[in-house]
Amino acid sequence: MRPERSCPVCGSSDTSAFLQRSSVPVHQDVVLASVAEARASGRGELTMYACGDCGFAFNAAFDQSLMSYGDCYDSTQTCSPEFSAYVNDLIGYLVEEREVRNCTVVEVGCGKGEFIRRLVGYPRGNITGYGFDPTHVGPDVEYGGRLRFEKRFYDEHASSLPADVVICRHVIEHVPDPLQLLSAVRRAAEQRPNALVCFETPCMEWILRHAVFWDLFYEHCCVHGTCSRGNISGWKADQRAASFEHTRMLAMLSNWRSDSVPLKNGWARSGARRWLVPWT
Ligand SMILES: [Zn+2]
Repeated sequence: MRPERSCPVCGSSDTSAFLQRSSVPVHQDVVLASVAEARASGRGELTMYACGDCGFAFNAAFDQSLMSYGDCYDSTQTCSPEFSAYVNDLIGYLVEEREVRNCTVVEVGCGKGEFIRRLVGYPRGNITGYGFDPTHVGPDVEYGGRLRFEKRFYDEHASSLPADVVICRHVIEHVPDPLQLLSAVRRAAEQRPNALVCFETPCMEWILRHAVFWDLFYEHCCVHGTCSRGNISGWKADQRAASFEHTRMLAMLSNWRSDSVPLKNGWARSGARRWLVPWT
């Protein structure tokens, strides 16, 4: 339980509860062997607060000790042809339009590794990849050593690994202290002068606008809104988009020391145009 209900992003005490559910399953992406095992799985309290100052939303009753991210956790979505096409187009956008090639990419929270595997395998990308995730299952090394997996959380020790590009998709909403994660990613990125950072996370505005309240659940202890993403601890987004039918937000951060970063390239011209809609 959080000792207080102040906003974990901006510290404001102007927060209000807007959703309360008791005894909800703490996990929803865990594959269990039996009905009995599922019924016996852990439960927790969902007490969602929203910050009146920055728009960030969080579960004030979240208890990290209830979470178990292990081999049985599987949030892979590329079995869906539609989602698989989205992932391919996003990777094409990164390589062809953001020039993510001939570089080292770190994926924070890579799950079973499908995104980083496709990125490293992109033709003529010449990318070396590292995936961090305690739920990863499979070989530690692929592509003859160009792709390596570390079966653990990405933390301050991992951030000593220099990265030209850091990818963090659908992770930050699982982290009760997002500023700590942002700091670790910054330490990895600031070792390279032109580092690019890419975050993707569910969009609070989409959830509220469409009244999709089942999209608020225990694993997502933090939910970001468009207003809470723009400038956190000095981070500046140079491109921000609504992605995958507006259900998610994608934020690209580069040259983060600068207050004003001109776009290096235009907006998505490739297949990613189908999925990415810029917001202003
Ligand atoms: Zn706030």
